[in-house]
Amino acid sequence: MTTALIFHPGYLLHEQSRDHPERKERLSYTMDQIREEGLMQHPAVKVIAPKEATIEEVSRVHIPEYLAFLEHSSKKGGFIDFDTNVPVGLFPHALLAAGGAIRAADAVLDGEVENAFALIRPPGHHARQGTGAGFCYLNNMAIMVRHVQGRGIRRVMILDWDAHHGDGTQMIFYEDPSVLFTSIHQMPFYPGSGSVDETGSGRGAGFTANMPVPAGTGDESYRYLFETVIEPLAREFSPELIAVSAGQDNHYTDPLTGLALTARGYAGLMKHAVALARELCGGRLVAILEGGYSVEGGLPYTNLGIIAAMADLDLQSIREPAIYGEWLARAADPSAHARVIENAASLRTHLAPFWACFR
Ligand SMILES: [Zn+2]
Repeated sequence: MTTALIFHPGYLLHEQSRDHPERKERLSYTMDQIREEGLMQHPAVKVIAPKEATIEEVSRVHIPEYLAFLEHSSKKGGFIDFDTNVPVGLFPHALLAAGGAIRAADAVLDGEVENAFALIRPPGHHARQGTGAGFCYLNNMAIMVRHVQGRGIRRVMILDWDAHHGDGTQMIFYEDPSVLFTSIHQMPFYPGSGSVDETGSGRGAGFTANMPVPAGTGDESYRYLFETVIEPLAREFSPELIAVSAGQDNHYTDPLTGLALTARGYAGLMKHAVALARELCGGRLVAILEGGYSVEGGLPYTNLGIIAAMADLDLQSIREPAIYGEWLARAADPSAHARVIENAASLRTHLAPFWACFR
């Protein structure tokens, strides 16, 4: 089976400012690494260029007033928050990112490939119905989910492993039982939400599962959360598609965060997710790039590890250059795992009324 990489040269055009952490090198260095490893021509990988999402497609998530604001301020430049301005020309770039997420889903639903990774920017998981935030403008994940639901997929499980809580995505689906939103993220940290007692409301009660982790959390804890929270929930929810908000800012070299995941840890996580998708939903898995700012550090290697895991390639050689070794020792906190176990136990208690697997 093959894996699609969704990429467009237009993803390198968006720029808030030269020194902004969400800059084009995040993706251009990853693409260089992918070329260097020969993955562009690999028989298990299919590179697909997407087109812009339509206004109708993004309107399934965002309100017209916000879309009009984005379109208008893209002409002269504008401002959303201190991390997120609207550079001239933004709107078509944001539509192209959303279009990449949609194209990834179509490649999977049409059986062109088994799974797909949308290597897109700007990212999306902080964007809400009526505003952008935290480097995000359009919620690419939510737009993709509404698109697949329009194509007949009833239940989608989202796994958001970006270091920051996916507050925008959570809010969009908070009352919606057709989408199980799960998130592992550093806490306390930006944006401040994502505690274990945020479990959804109304008809969506029980369909949000937050796994906050302290700074210093590494591979072992992510594996633990996957096995003790994500897998049992997934088996009971029985998704028809698994969607990963793949933020690579948990890597121990990331300059914005304090976590300690390695490239092999990322590859292992994705391997788990792929196995779960094969067990539950015919292998249907769509990954969408969110954050990850270690442009000159681990980022290209984490993306490579994820792709290798999706395409069943040999994972043995996926590792960061040895010179980063000391960084890992500095980033990792051995006491973090006990906190992770505690938080996960508390989450299971909060979710027990809704899920038999936690009773
Ligand atoms: Zn992030």
